[in-house]
Amino acid sequence: TPFRKLSASRVLLTPPFQRWFSQETSKLEGKVALITGAASGIGKETAIKFINNGAKVVLADIQADPGRLGPNAAFVPCDVTKESDISDAVDFAVSEFGHLDIMYNNAGIACRTPPSIVDLDMATFDRTMAINVRGVVAGIKHGARVMIPRQRGCILCTASVTGMMGGLAQHAYSVSKSGVIGVVRSMASEMCKHGIRVNCISPMAIPTPFVMDEIREYYPGVDPGRLAKMVSDFSALKGAACEPSDIANAALFLASDDAKFVSGHNLVVDGAFTAFKNLTL
Ligand code: NAD
Repeated sequence: TPFRKLSASRVLLTPPFQRWFSQETSKLEGKVALITGAASGIGKETAIKFINNGAKVVLADIQADPGRLGPNAAFVPCDVTKESDISDAVDFAVSEFGHLDIMYNNAGIACRTPPSIVDLDMATFDRTMAINVRGVVAGIKHGARVMIPRQRGCILCTASVTGMMGGLAQHAYSVSKSGVIGVVRSMASEMCKHGIRVNCISPMAIPTPFVMDEIREYYPGVDPGRLAKMVSDFSALKGAACEPSDIANAALFLASDDAKFVSGHNLVVDGAFTAFKNLTL
């Protein structure tokens, strides 16, 4: 029986059924996902969201394992600048869980760049491209490698509003995220004949380690709580700040059958930031 009786009016779910009821929904039941950059921030939040919606998830990251997330999660070390690591992570997902339905290329960095391009260190530029663009392209390549034979699948990437706008003082980062939006459009056109959808999400600033590490350099000695509030205050939407869970919700939508006709799309999750600034593409 799924229920253990405690009293006439209270029952307790027995363990196998606890998971069933604890799921937020079952939108990803039977699906297998691989998420890069999943040890922290948006990637980790999305991994938890996907698991809570019935998916089996492989978390891939250059950082250490974020800890056990239950029997439907596995961790694989992966540096997205190495194509062999990405290829191995995809093969690991297939051998561990049987197939791959969702490839989420989320890993990214924000290298600090100088205010003027005249002072730009090209090594910084190359490193940003290696992770944010080459890593994403290799992820799409190896996701597609195992999805094409099944003639279905979903590829997601994390872009950014900085890839859509000027004025955010990030030569290397902005270029890299424009690259992600560009490759998503291009790959969606190529993959549609295989039944594979390709989309990206463009968040605005969220106080994850990625942003906080950088902003701390600009504002040394300022209290971390105050810095996090400064980042959140970029939001144009009254009473709201962008959180990793907002991106995880967008990823859940795009990964699920609710978005079965959505491909080649850049889902902007920015509380009207780009509209407010009137600088959309
Ligand atoms: P985060 O720092 O919390 O997470 C980034 C993860 O990527 C980390 O776990 C890190 O170890 C991993 N990573 C870095 N280099 C890697 C590599 N070579 N191989 C594998 N993994 C690597 O930051 P986040 O905010 O969750 O960032 C996730 C994505 O969201 C990034 O692509 C970032 O560009 C994008 N993004 C973030 C924001 C923001 O404000 N936080 C806004 C727009 C877009």
